[in-house]
Amino acid sequence: MKSKSMRFRWMSNLKKWVVNNLCCVLRKKNKKRERCEDMENVGNECGVMTDFQSIDLRAITSTGPSYSGQADLETEMAKLKLQDLLIVSPLGAGGFGRVILVQERYGSNKTYALKILSKQHIVANDHQKWVLNEKNMMAELKSDFIVRLHRTFKDDEHLYMLMEPCLGGELLTLLRVEKNLSNTAAKFYTACIVEAFSFMHSRGIIHRDLKPENVLLDTRGYAKLIDFGMAKKVIPGKLTHTMCGTAFYIAPEVVLKQGHNTAADIWSLGALVFEMLSGSSLFADKNNNALQTCYNILQGINDVVFPNEISKMAEDFIRKLCRNNPVNRLSVEEIRMHGWFNGFQWEDLQDKTMEPPFTPKVESSADTSNFNCENFPEEVDYPHIDDVTSWDPDF
Ligand code: ATP
Ligand code: MG
Repeated sequence: MKSKSMRFRWMSNLKKWVVNNLCCVLRKKNKKRERCEDMENVGNECGVMTDFQSIDLRAITSTGPSYSGQADLETEMAKLKLQDLLIVSPLGAGGFGRVILVQERYGSNKTYALKILSKQHIVANDHQKWVLNEKNMMAELKSDFIVRLHRTFKDDEHLYMLMEPCLGGELLTLLRVEKNLSNTAAKFYTACIVEAFSFMHSRGIIHRDLKPENVLLDTRGYAKLIDFGMAKKVIPGKLTHTMCGTAFYIAPEVVLKQGHNTAADIWSLGALVFEMLSGSSLFADKNNNALQTCYNILQGINDVVFPNEISKMAEDFIRKLCRNNPVNRLSVEEIRMHGWFNGFQWEDLQDKTMEPPFTPKVESSADTSNFNCENFPEEVDYPHIDDVTSWDPDF
């Protein structure tokens, strides 16, 4: 039984958090999801080939390759200039970045995803630390299950991240179409995310924003993790306290600012597996009430009644991922050995010889029809801020 003062602290923490964060994240989430709503409209309406010079890229400097991959790729990347790229089509937009598909103008015609960040926007929102963080995290993460950052560029007004493109679309889009996934499909995507986590967690990096929007499919149908804006490196044995993430997937210890580590990602994975198998959100309130969603998260998984479409084995798996005490959640190794994965050939997944459950329709390396870019946002004009450049020498 909780003491009166503990319960009071718990409730006031909860209220403060909802007011400060949750309503805002829910609004943002719903806005973003609306973009994926109308699959009929997915298409190439926005796929006009545009010249990069037409969007005024002045004083372009580059910081050289951001990672040391294969030597030849690195050399190739180091030579690449922003003006060598043609804009093909928008891919998506988040709170800070607009992501477009670009193509090499000469030679190979290779395509990339280019995330464009406005310095005015970043500085106006005091977001500098997060942007540098995202770049540094991505530069360190070279896994087949994480979208690769090839290099960065910058000019007076923008920062650019040149990434590997994933043209199969967001996992969210697939969930919208399919409603819920088969055990085989859910297992496959879960396993891809587990591989990404295995790589990150062994380096002390927590993603902190796992959600279907941040899992993309490549042209073969393999899942890859994106969006490392909230990722954080934590010294083994230590906890971090910043409250961040997306409402439906946040672990209770993050909500309560009790300090969290890589186990917070495992909780989010549990919420995502439930959503893949049932088509509904594990902790979301049916009426979209933020306070109730938050209350559901803090109540935990014990009282949740699982729908029939989730097998007993999958239920056991999800319950063990979402254990209230982070220490008791499954580790990456335990996940691989859980009964739900009986017979699953992890080596085949790691070698990428496993057949993905779904092969996205991607006609060419410039086909963006799996992305709904109908409401691709224009760049907003922010009030002029004198110095928006002094913070980014390392970008
Ligand atoms: P958020 O508000 O989620 O933090 P953000 O501003 O950090 O977003 P991202 O999540 O990195 O931006 O990207 C926004 C969208 O752009 C993604 O949801 C996805 O649809 C698209 N996108 C991002 N990276 C890629 C990529 N490598 N290939 C294809 N599409 C991408
Ligand atoms: Mg995102």
